[in-house]
Amino acid sequence: MPHRIIVLGAGYAGAIAAGRLAKRLRPEDVAITLVNAEPDFVERVRMHQLAVGQDLKPRPLAEMFAGTGVELRLATVTGVDADRKTVAVVDANGAQELTYDTLVYALGSGWNAQGVPGTAGHAYEIASRPGALRLRERLARLDAGQTVVVVGGGLTGLEAAAEIAEARPDLDVALAARGGLGDWLSPKGREHLREVFGKLGITVHEHAAVTGVEADRVATAEGKAIPAAVTVWTTGFAVHPIAKATALEVTGTGQIVVDGTMRSVSHPDVYAIGDAAFAMGRGGRPLRMSCASGTPMAWQAADAITARLTGGKLPNAPLRYFNQCISLGRKEGLIQYVTADDRAVPAALTGRLAAVYKELVCKGAAWSVANPTLGLPARRRRVTQERAAAGSAVKAQA
Ligand SMILES: Cc1cc2nc3c(=O)[nH]c(=O)nc-3n(C[C@H](O)[C@H](O)[C@H](O)COP(=O)(O)OP(=O)(O)OC[C@H]3O[C@@H](n4cnc5c(N)ncnc54)[C@H](O)[C@@H]3O)c2cc1C
Repeated sequence: MPHRIIVLGAGYAGAIAAGRLAKRLRPEDVAITLVNAEPDFVERVRMHQLAVGQDLKPRPLAEMFAGTGVELRLATVTGVDADRKTVAVVDANGAQELTYDTLVYALGSGWNAQGVPGTAGHAYEIASRPGALRLRERLARLDAGQTVVVVGGGLTGLEAAAEIAEARPDLDVALAARGGLGDWLSPKGREHLREVFGKLGITVHEHAAVTGVEADRVATAEGKAIPAAVTVWTTGFAVHPIAKATALEVTGTGQIVVDGTMRSVSHPDVYAIGDAAFAMGRGGRPLRMSCASGTPMAWQAADAITARLTGGKLPNAPLRYFNQCISLGRKEGLIQYVTADDRAVPAALTGRLAAVYKELVCKGAAWSVANPTLGLPARRRRVTQERAAAGSAVKAQA
């Protein structure tokens, strides 16, 4: 009987892990199933581009995984029973239960409204494709001079505000940030950001914590009302509630707690990667929800699973960061170099070169899905049955 590996979620993390496992393990030894709700691979890092009317390259998962040995299952995951080692899914044929020997949980995240009143009824989100398409349709209906407020001064908020202002110079675009504009960046990075935002005509409301959203304005804790025909909410991401409803050890926010090999600290036959996982990076700081973390997490998990099943060497290098790549529209960008634990260093790349660099990074991320071993030849190793069974034995003893 082949070792059954189920990967939940075909975003950056899940798709890369599934493909890499197929390239590392012999097809006769394993049955790899990739479960995803949508038929297409969604480039989430480009959702702000989709929202302003740019068309993204279609990436059907069936084509991407044809001939790889990964079985694609289009279905919505509704639950995981980590003790019985089953996954509940629903598709057009109804509900079904899948059984795994090893599970890779990579269901990603969605927007995080943080319970702020009015967000559900009035705010737009760009953390998902349906959300970005809804905003796209709304922006297209806005007349010149109307107001758009992007709430959130993190990477997604900066990218969204710049993209909207560049695509629609006729609109009055503002950004509301809880802190100062780009206050975690280097002085050079901050200066460049201010310069680009100035050129794009974006009004910046700093130290403005938004506490309510209405149809035509947002209210701040400081008592300000900022006019907003459209409010775009980008204050971080929230994971789906599925993991929290399992016996898996999770954080208060529902991320699965994993060790350095991306293995659940409570259930050794479960791995979690991408936004859904809580993993420590260098300097004892948790990895942030990002594609920049999800891709190496996927490599780490796939290589660790392979090593445990085949008797190879476990990957143990802690994951690290190199830079934060921020698009500021299509013509401008900011590459902020960082320490291994993600703190800004003085050096930053700016201007058109940075925009080109960021575009290459986005292309590279999608390329990694199709080339999960970085284009290197597949090195398939034999699963030893004793090792395949060992995971279950460890679990039984725990
Ligand atoms: C506008 C925007 C810009 C960004 N820019 C950057 C950037 O420049 N750099 C960077 O590093 N990060 C960036 N990010 C963050 C990055 O996109 C995410 O961190 C990354 O997509 C997480 O990858 P993931 O594989 O964990 O999850 P996802 O990419 O969210 O993939 C999860 C997958 O699971 C599927 N799924 C979810 N629930 C279910 C279910 N119940 N059943 C079946 N399938 C399900 C989804 O359909 C999806 O295919 C950006 C995000 C946004 C929104």
